[in-house]
Amino acid sequence: MSPTSYQLLHPAMFLYIKIRTIAAGFFNSYSELDCKDIICFFAKQIKFQKMSHKAGFVSIIGKPNAGKSTLMNALVGEKMSIVTPKAQTTRHRIIGIVNEPEYQIVFSDTPGVIKPAYTLQESMMSSVQGSLIDADIILLVTDIHEKYDESDVIEKLKRTESPVGILINKIDKSTEDEVKQKIVYWQELINPQSIFAISALHGHNIAAIMQFILEHLPEHPPYYEKDVLTDRNERFFVSEIIREKVFKLYEKEIPYSTEVVVTTFKEEQAITRISAEIIVERDSQKNIIIGKAGSMIKKVGTYAREDIEDFLQTKVFLELFVKVIPDWRKKDNYLKRFGYEQ
Ligand code: GDP
Ligand code: MG
Repeated sequence: MSPTSYQLLHPAMFLYIKIRTIAAGFFNSYSELDCKDIICFFAKQIKFQKMSHKAGFVSIIGKPNAGKSTLMNALVGEKMSIVTPKAQTTRHRIIGIVNEPEYQIVFSDTPGVIKPAYTLQESMMSSVQGSLIDADIILLVTDIHEKYDESDVIEKLKRTESPVGILINKIDKSTEDEVKQKIVYWQELINPQSIFAISALHGHNIAAIMQFILEHLPEHPPYYEKDVLTDRNERFFVSEIIREKVFKLYEKEIPYSTEVVVTTFKEEQAITRISAEIIVERDSQKNIIIGKAGSMIKKVGTYAREDIEDFLQTKVFLELFVKVIPDWRKKDNYLKRFGYEQ
C-alpha cells in the first residue's frame, strides 16, 4: 500500500470502527463483509474528492493580432477580453476562469509579444514575462502567415518546464500544404508537447486544445471560488468596452494614444449610471475624438452603452468626457494610475 492510499484509508478506517461499534451496540451482531464493503465505499469517496480535482494557470502568448483574445473567448465561452482587428488592443493581463466540478482552468490573455519601444510597452512586456513564469501550461498562438523571429521568447519556450502547445491559427485562410509546412517548422524549432492547427474565429479544433489542457493540468485544489469568472471587476470591463469602440471607430495613432478611466459607477435599482473619461495626449486628438458637433463621441457612447447594457444586464446611462494629459504614455505615475504594472 502506498503512503498516500494509506493516508486516504485512514478516515475510512475510523468510520469502520465507528460503524462496527454502532452496529454491535444496536444489533449485538454484525457482518464483517458488509463493513468491509462500507470501507471500500468510503475510501473511494475520499480518494475521489482528494485526488481528482485539477487546477492551474494557462498563459496564452503570441504576437499582436495572432488571435489570442479570440482564442481565449472561444475557450472561456464568454466575451471576456476585447477583440479588434488592430494590434495591441489587450494591454493588461486578463484572466478568465473555466469552472467545472472536477477542474478549474485559469487563463491569462497577455499583451502581444513585442520589443519595448516606450514605457507603456515595457510594462506590457513585464506582464508577458510574468505569465511565462507562473504558467502551468503555455499556449503560443501564431498566425499561420506570420514570420516568427522573437528569439528570446523561443529560447524561453525551449527551456521552460511547463508543457507548451503551439497553436497555428487562422488556418481558414490557408492551404493544407501551408499547414503541413508550419507544423514541421514548429516541430524543428521548439519540439513542443503538441501542435494544433486551429481557427479560433471559427471554433475549429478548440475542443482538442481543451483536451490538451486537461491532460496537463496539475492536480490541485481550486485557486478561486468556483463562481468567479474573472479577477477583473465590472468597472474594468466597462472601460475595456469603451476602449474597444475607440479602436473600432478611429484611425491611425488615436486608439494607441487613448486610455479610458471609469470615474463613476452607480448602481441604482433600474439603471446603472456610468461616467468615463477618454484620455488622449494632445488637443488635436481631443478634437478628433469629439468629431464634428460631437458626432463621433456620440457614436462611441451609443455603441458602448449597448454593449455595456448587454454585459451588465441592466439599463445604463453613460456619460463620456474627453481629457488631455500630455504624453501620459511616457509618465510612470499615469501608467501606475491606469493600472499598468510597474
Ligand atoms: P490578439 O491581438 O492576439 O489578441 O488578436 P485578436 O484575438 O484580437 O484577433 C486579431 C484579429 O484576427 C481579429 O480581427 C480576429 O477576428 C482575427 N482572427 C482571430 N482568429 C482568427 C481565425 O482563426 N481566422 C481568421 N480568419 N481571423 C482570425
Ligand atoms: Mg488581444
